[in-house]
Amino acid sequence: MTEAPAFSQAPVLSLTGIHKQFNGVPALRDVALALRPGEIHALMGQNGAGKSTLIKVLTGVYTADSGEMRLAGRAIRPASPLEAQRLGISTVYQEVNLCPNLSVAENIFSGRYPRCGPAQGFRIDWAKARRDARALLARLEVDIDVTQLLSSYSVAVQQMVAIARALGLSSTVLILDEPTSSLDDDEVKSLFAVLRRLRGEGLAILFVTHFLNQVYAVSDRITVLRNGGWVGEWAAADLPPQALISAMVGRELAAQATGHAQLPVIDEAARPVLEAQAIGQAGQLQPVDLRVRPGEVVGLAGLLGSGRTELARLLFGLAAPDCGSLSVDGVAVTFANPADAVRHGLALCPEERKTDGIVAELSLRENIALALQARRGVRNTLSRAEQTALAERFVKALGIKTASVDTPIGLLSGGNQQKALLARWLATEPRLLILDEPTRGIDVAAKQEIMDEILRLARGGMAVLFISSEMNEVVRISHRIAVLRERRKVGELPAGSDEDAVYELIAAES
Ligand code: ADP
Ligand code: MG
Repeated sequence: MTEAPAFSQAPVLSLTGIHKQFNGVPALRDVALALRPGEIHALMGQNGAGKSTLIKVLTGVYTADSGEMRLAGRAIRPASPLEAQRLGISTVYQEVNLCPNLSVAENIFSGRYPRCGPAQGFRIDWAKARRDARALLARLEVDIDVTQLLSSYSVAVQQMVAIARALGLSSTVLILDEPTSSLDDDEVKSLFAVLRRLRGEGLAILFVTHFLNQVYAVSDRITVLRNGGWVGEWAAADLPPQALISAMVGRELAAQATGHAQLPVIDEAARPVLEAQAIGQAGQLQPVDLRVRPGEVVGLAGLLGSGRTELARLLFGLAAPDCGSLSVDGVAVTFANPADAVRHGLALCPEERKTDGIVAELSLRENIALALQARRGVRNTLSRAEQTALAERFVKALGIKTASVDTPIGLLSGGNQQKALLARWLATEPRLLILDEPTRGIDVAAKQEIMDEILRLARGGMAVLFISSEMNEVVRISHRIAVLRERRKVGELPAGSDEDAVYELIAAES
């Protein structure tokens, strides 16, 4: 937690009653925001909540349909980013667009070079450009030769140059939309040091991130948006992480996200949907026993390379076991390929959604319909209307944020792509769903929703095999946890086990 800021100050920038629609669909509904001088303010919300839209309104990229903006008490209405910049509102966008082949000074001033007077024919005033570039960088505690090529400096320094480019010397507000997504831990630390320094100079800083720990590391205040609406504004010290997640997701998640979820009750005597006996493959996996009953979530825990994905592949017909046997509902089966497994009611959501999962050029609708279509065969194609109905049903059920089901899936956020993949396999109405890292690389609120969905499916009787590197997730929603180490199953833990128990088993001498 950072030291307590003085909140008594009046906001330097305030927005009230902001509305913005795109093609009749509201993206912002009655949103407010107040930034005080000398504060770091986190703007939080799930993907699609409206954060970027609000920032674009603030910086003149979009014009609000209605609402009011005041800067130092004066009503403003910037019509372009340049105008916003002139007013003292500077922005660093998610994608930093710098030119490695230009000098540092050129990167900072390209498009808005200082000019000499009429006597010199309004030539670019290079001496002033260099001087101002040095002054801007000095403000960030960066002391480099501004005539050198940008490419001669590290990513962290380049990020500072991007901030220097955004910051005019007279900036009062600095806005950063996910500035840390491509930085490593040390680079994030140095960025935060700079933000604190700028805060100390009285700048108001608005900061968007997906990483909760970063929010608490630097922010004084937090504003939360949900579905385009304003949820609230808090001092960071007054909003514990659980309450923040609840505000973002809109449900009471306090009990869930720490400790153990309320698990669906399962019939211990029920016949397993899938049972593996001593299934293995030379060089890939030592023989493993595993059973999953209806309504049961079985977690597969282990470190990277422990054999979790290999086991999933053997169970799903993606790899051929060279020992052991499989049965579905007590009947022996062999899967020559995944299609066999799908016919027996299995589904596998793969780990690499970019390479094995989504087809980026196809629409959300086509991506969702893919597995069901494959299962039905070419002679029984789903009509476009059927595909649309199917996709719309899952968009609603899983809360997928998209303009339409015809949007190319590549344009959706990671969390929404992951939900679409889940939808693809749920559409086949599987009896056993294998999920390989379904929460990797998605934001914290989307993780919660995916895990809620897994429990909901289990409650409906689906058997689930859940693979995740996030041990807290595995212990939270699993009825049983099968632990793998060095391509061997080393034990099983019951529901209610804690993360330490899993790590102990992983670390134990064999
Ligand atoms: P966030 O940054 O919080 O993830 P966004 O502001 O990008 O959210 O999006 C909010 C909503 O507005 C989403 O439903 C998104 O699809 C929609 N949206 C954003 N920009 C546009 C646009 N240019 N045209 C149509 N819809 C948009
Ligand atoms: Mg955004």
